[in-house]
Amino acid sequence: MTARHTTPFPTATVLGYPRIGPDRELKKALEAYWGDPAQHPAQTVLDTLTALRERTTARLTGLGLTAPAAVPSEGFAVDHVLDTALALGAVPARFAADGYRPAAPDTPRGIELVTALSRGTDHLEPLELTKWFDTNYHYYVPEIGPDTPLGARPESIVQRFTATLEATGTVTRPVLVGPLSLLLLSRPETTDEPGARPLDRLDDVVALYTTLLSALADAGVPWVQLDEPALAADGWQLPRAELVAALETVYARLSYPAHRPQILVTVGYGDAGEDAQLALARTDVDALAVDLDRGDVPGEAALQAWGERLLVAGVIGGRTVWRTDLARAVEKLDLLRSRALGPVAVGTATPLLHVPHDVARETGLDPAVRAWVAFADQKVGEVVELARGVEHGWDAVAETLRHDAALREARANHPATHRAEVRERTAAVRDADRRRDTAEARRAAQHERLRLPVLPTTTIGSFPQTAEVRTARAEHRAGRITDAQYTARIREEIARTVRAQEELGLDVLVHGEAERNDMVQYFAEALDGFATTRHGWVQSYGSRCTRPSILFGDVSRPAPITVDWTSYAASLTERPVKGMLTGPVTILAWSFVRDDAPAAEVADQVALALRDEITDLEAAGTAVIQVDEPALRELLPLREADRPAYLDWSVGSFRLATGGAATDTQIHTHLCYSEFETVLDAIDGLDADVTTLEASRSGSGIVDGLAAAGFPRDVGPGVWDIHSPRVPTFDEVAQRVRHAAHVIGAERVWVNPDCGLKTRGWTETEAALDRLVAAAVTVRGEL
Ligand code: GLN
Ligand code: ZN
Repeated sequence: MTARHTTPFPTATVLGYPRIGPDRELKKALEAYWGDPAQHPAQTVLDTLTALRERTTARLTGLGLTAPAAVPSEGFAVDHVLDTALALGAVPARFAADGYRPAAPDTPRGIELVTALSRGTDHLEPLELTKWFDTNYHYYVPEIGPDTPLGARPESIVQRFTATLEATGTVTRPVLVGPLSLLLLSRPETTDEPGARPLDRLDDVVALYTTLLSALADAGVPWVQLDEPALAADGWQLPRAELVAALETVYARLSYPAHRPQILVTVGYGDAGEDAQLALARTDVDALAVDLDRGDVPGEAALQAWGERLLVAGVIGGRTVWRTDLARAVEKLDLLRSRALGPVAVGTATPLLHVPHDVARETGLDPAVRAWVAFADQKVGEVVELARGVEHGWDAVAETLRHDAALREARANHPATHRAEVRERTAAVRDADRRRDTAEARRAAQHERLRLPVLPTTTIGSFPQTAEVRTARAEHRAGRITDAQYTARIREEIARTVRAQEELGLDVLVHGEAERNDMVQYFAEALDGFATTRHGWVQSYGSRCTRPSILFGDVSRPAPITVDWTSYAASLTERPVKGMLTGPVTILAWSFVRDDAPAAEVADQVALALRDEITDLEAAGTAVIQVDEPALRELLPLREADRPAYLDWSVGSFRLATGGAATDTQIHTHLCYSEFETVLDAIDGLDADVTTLEASRSGSGIVDGLAAAGFPRDVGPGVWDIHSPRVPTFDEVAQRVRHAAHVIGAERVWVNPDCGLKTRGWTETEAALDRLVAAAVTVRGEL
């Protein structure tokens, strides 16, 4: 047996790097393979992965992460959680029964397996998608039940390390989700008995990690990174003390064998808590990364217990695009170094997964704003500079620190960041501005005005975004077609969408959102105070990416945004057309929000802009207006203690946006990607007239939950999972409608898909909506 490697930990590192590629290479490769595997076989995806891994390694070493183990080696086909689950061989029984065997992800069979698990097949439901902590990233929920066969599959993890070493000469640091977080983030298989917990498999799983670590040691891996972000969150259905005890047991076992790489444990996404730090100190793990962006510098007790082992100080936030306040980072580093008994390295607080690659490419950004911004590569630069300061003294980086302070001052004095008229308006907001007429009065007035059948049918807003629509937008943006030509083409699409909905027999129509590239960016482009980027893509889930706007200044609405399109749609039909807006919380959640003003104030600025838009829609005759808040749950703080303050400002901003609506204007809201249980009170607090929710992936769970909680408002629990191309059967949809009508009460149920349809094709959309309407009609007949 060889002794453990003792390569020292690098003085500078990042916990992870964007995986999708600077030009979304991974997305393109995956989608090409999914679209036409004969033309683009799985091997092309693997080749892209290899090329990206080599590029990332070269890039990070070029930026100064030169020491062995400084560059993370991540699993990045589709999702890091799924990647770790596959290293444990976790394939749900329904896939196994269909011939899918466990496979290492970086093999053609692995790519096939990942594809089936993440997208489903024509008769198998995919793994559920759920948000990753309080971010806009969504991971595939592994299914691990009492009987799920498990077995270690170290091949890909080892191969990434050895192949990168061979190709680039760089010793990288493999990254895995740690065993405790992996199981907490998993769910039982759909067929498992109620009460089965993935966590019950902890013993088995730790044994598998030991095997993985041993294989990494065989390959000469000096350091491995195990991420345990679950420790930064509450709400795991086991008491914190048990969670922390489990953490200690797990890492005592993993760190016990001599034949293993050195282990870096990270938490990230917030403060690990002193209890967790003390628990890890009682084990033999070799290094600990602490989040000093969102968390505090650990206290004396934890640091004494930790002794002379290394700490990675996560002073560079991985969640925002703003340059780090270097003076504050220096303070934190100094405080930590004065308390710590061992060495301190500089790192990011989380992986850089949540920020784009490189702001230097954003030549279209206002140079003032661009100077305040740091994407992944710039954050690596900050890490490297601060590490140089730690090593050689702050004088060595004095110029960098001065430059940062000057930029910070320029930003504070920039006219766009403090506009008196905007500040005065938010300061004048009163509680009454956030209140509408009573729910009963509204219900009666809206019934009178709309006269909808029981179980009314509608959609969530967007219709398929065809290649022609995207081309029209791109040509318009590039100035190749005139405004008038563009308007004509979008109107054509709106007309087609309205016609299709009439033919399908839907009750409340939408205009289809053909003019919108993205539900947040579209509004960001129309509002003052936002900047948009060209290459600023971040992975959202699977191959999907978003390009968050940058909210840098005070927000206002220079002109109406949606009124013309909505009115045009309304002019084509007798049926009500629902106006479609994105709510303030989601606009904030899916943008990179300024860090120099309180979120509550920023949200109210956005809310007032939307409030004016609602007034204009009403004036144009719109009777139903949907204000989407899919991200309400997403921003919910991970720690319970922080939640009331968040819910107060987030719910308050939605109510400010909608609080001016007339009694007979029906306000809808829509939420998705969520475990709603924890925020049902907040959803109720939004005071919307109708709430549509993603629900079909939960089986009857969400509908039963709403009924059990006595949720008092009209709801549209989605009856069609629009995330996969699969068209549901009539029976499936009818059963869902029937069940909802039964447990919630037909008079309060709407019938709609889970979410918008923009990623779907027209064929499956029409087929599925046809069944949806038929199901509503059938169940109406049964009442
Ligand atoms: N109205 C939006 C759409 O249909 C809602 C999208 C969402 O909830 N994510 O696309
Ligand atoms: Zn949605």
